[in-house]
Amino acid sequence: MRHIPYGKQDISQTDIAAVVAVLESDYITQGPVIEQFETQVASYCKVAHGVALNSATSALHVACLALDIGPGDVVWTSPNTFVASANCAIYCGAQPDFVDIDPRTYNLCIGALEEKLKKTRRAGKPLPKLVIAVHFAGQSCDMQALSKLAGEYGFHVLEDASHAIGASYRNEPVGHCQFSDACVFSFHPVKLVTSGEGGMVVTRSGKLADRMRQLRSHGVVREPQSDAQGLQEPWQYQQTALGFNYRITDIQAALGLSQMTRLDEFVSKRHTLADSYKRQLQSSDLTLPFQSGHTRSSYHLYPVLVANTRSRRSVRNRLYHHLQAAGIGVNVHYIPVHSQPYYREMGFQYGDFPVAEAYYERTLTLPLYTTLSDSDQDRVIDALGSFDLYQQAA
Ligand SMILES: *Cc1c(COP(=O)(O)O)cnc(C)c1O
Repeated sequence: MRHIPYGKQDISQTDIAAVVAVLESDYITQGPVIEQFETQVASYCKVAHGVALNSATSALHVACLALDIGPGDVVWTSPNTFVASANCAIYCGAQPDFVDIDPRTYNLCIGALEEKLKKTRRAGKPLPKLVIAVHFAGQSCDMQALSKLAGEYGFHVLEDASHAIGASYRNEPVGHCQFSDACVFSFHPVKLVTSGEGGMVVTRSGKLADRMRQLRSHGVVREPQSDAQGLQEPWQYQQTALGFNYRITDIQAALGLSQMTRLDEFVSKRHTLADSYKRQLQSSDLTLPFQSGHTRSSYHLYPVLVANTRSRRSVRNRLYHHLQAAGIGVNVHYIPVHSQPYYREMGFQYGDFPVAEAYYERTLTLPLYTTLSDSDQDRVIDALGSFDLYQQAA
């Protein structure tokens, strides 16, 4: 029985040819293809600047630094995300904290955010300097409401759109940055578009983009200088900040660039598959992904939830093993970040964010990727159908 993974990259012969062309060119890193990739993603998002890096994790880090996040600052994000969305605050010496999720969209809950802001202000505690909005599963957060609160409480907004390239919000592409300072994408192979490893920050701000470009390469800027006699010193470079080597290669950028031309096709294929799941599962006892107004998801993930009973966690676990035994690579997104041992050491505990925890105990991510065949999707549906949720819950 062939194993069906939960996600998989889609590499074409054209993608391969684009990578080979770079390997046969003069530059395999720091060459011209990186800039082409940046321009392409930025123009897709209708923003002025794109800064490509070796991962979304690096992108989140330099974006936080460019927004002046440092020791003494507080950064809030969703607990229902990959650890990188919160770790970036700690890299900068800031304190991370979380806002519970909306029970329907599984994104950071705007009502809970407003309440926490009010409570924090009343208690005279430090308000967040930055809120990182994660577009879970490919569906945008309510950015307009978030940006309104950002205005009232004076925090920056960074979008972790690792799941959401190709998605849209209020008829504009995610990454448009109308309601945020900057937006981060991931090009890891399980995401919509891949460069092997890679990430990008898009922003409207030239100042932020310049700072992030500098931080991605050792904090160094290249500016030729002259000596006292006016003789050129073209080798000159100046380190004016403490940066990193977070550079992407031209080999990776070529793959990303080629993949971007197929993004719309990828998203529409994912919609077809999601529609098919919906059609075939809507009479089951599973809760299917809710789509809120003003958003068009990229359907990076298709999480389904078992019934909210006392035995939800063991029902979900049994369903997980039932599907795995049928050769179906289901997965769980996400273990709430605050419940990780590293975060518990910082004082967080299971129980702090009950909506994210209840969601976690019920959720299972079904296979969804562009090359998933109809017959493989039928295998998933059949395997779900042969699991008696009621009996298992009893
Ligand atoms: C994948 C992912 C990241 C990290 O992306 P990398 O490119 O692997 O560093 C960050 N945040 C979220 C929400 C992700 O899904």
